[in-house]
Amino acid sequence: MASESRVGLIGLGTMGWPMAANLVRAGAAVTVFDLDADRVSAFAEEHGCVGATRPSDFADSSIVITMLPDGHVVADVVRNWEGGLLDVLPAGATILDMSSSSPQGTIELFEAAREHGIGVVDAPVSGGLPRATDGTLSIMVGADDEAFAKVEPTLRMLGKSIFRTGPVGSGHAMKALNNVIAATAYAAVAEAIEVGRSYSLDPKTLVDVVNESTGRSFTSEVVFGQHVVTGTYATGFALGLLTKDAGIAADMASSAHVDAPVLQLVAKRWREALAGTEFAADHSRAHTAWW
Ligand code: NAD
Repeated sequence: MASESRVGLIGLGTMGWPMAANLVRAGAAVTVFDLDADRVSAFAEEHGCVGATRPSDFADSSIVITMLPDGHVVADVVRNWEGGLLDVLPAGATILDMSSSSPQGTIELFEAAREHGIGVVDAPVSGGLPRATDGTLSIMVGADDEAFAKVEPTLRMLGKSIFRTGPVGSGHAMKALNNVIAATAYAAVAEAIEVGRSYSLDPKTLVDVVNESTGRSFTSEVVFGQHVVTGTYATGFALGLLTKDAGIAADMASSAHVDAPVLQLVAKRWREALAGTEFAADHSRAHTAWW
């Protein structure tokens, strides 16, 4: 018998693992999948839930969360993984893409899924590993009223601030714009530190002063204050993922014909950082590729 409340989650990475754990903790029946079969069996064993090996294992899931690297991977899993999910999910089921994906790809996936009677809602998150773990993520949801009503109880198991941003795709647009602001702040603080060195300013002093002054941001406080200055470089957010987000925002500006030279330059700087490091490097290390 199909269980109305069963939730699937695909992508047991840094974020997906603690999110799936919170679903279990909140009482949901959960089915999980990841390319890494060891992670699937470890999670299923630790949390007493179903570890999937094929799309049909999600046949009784009314919601399938995707927490994957980007929208291309999401579309590939939904449409192509061993025949995809669209023909195996129960009628009226929802793909809830909580990854940071490109809004255009999400709209295309929404249209393709609709032909199979399956909904797509974008609900990317902010807050990183700490807030994924304690279930207090900020969530930006692109959905109409009917689609939102289906996913809201599940979202409340994962997050605290739930923002309805507009139609499908708007959550992903919001997320990319938020992240390009953070990527810009990172580049500005890193450049200020580098310039400051030539004026006898110690990086820690500079960051301490900025954090008590008008240049303060989450990036200056947490990323620089707790990870760069201390040399721990352990935010848990990969450099390749932030580079992707900055690129999505720059592409959004181009598609909308908005002259946005700062966003284009920031996206280019992060591509350069990626070329000088590796995808999985902590994003707080970007400055080491620039100088
Ligand atoms: P991650 O790389 O740690 O996890 C991704 C997981 O997806 C991995 O376990 C990988 O094995 C799995 N995967 C990849 N391809 C797959 C496929 N085809 N089928 C099944 N599983 C597959 O990434 P993450 O840090 O957890 O980020 C996930 C998403 O959330 C990204 O879109 C990211 O931009 C976004 N995000 C991350 C953070 C953060 O702080 N890490 C914060 C907010 C949003």
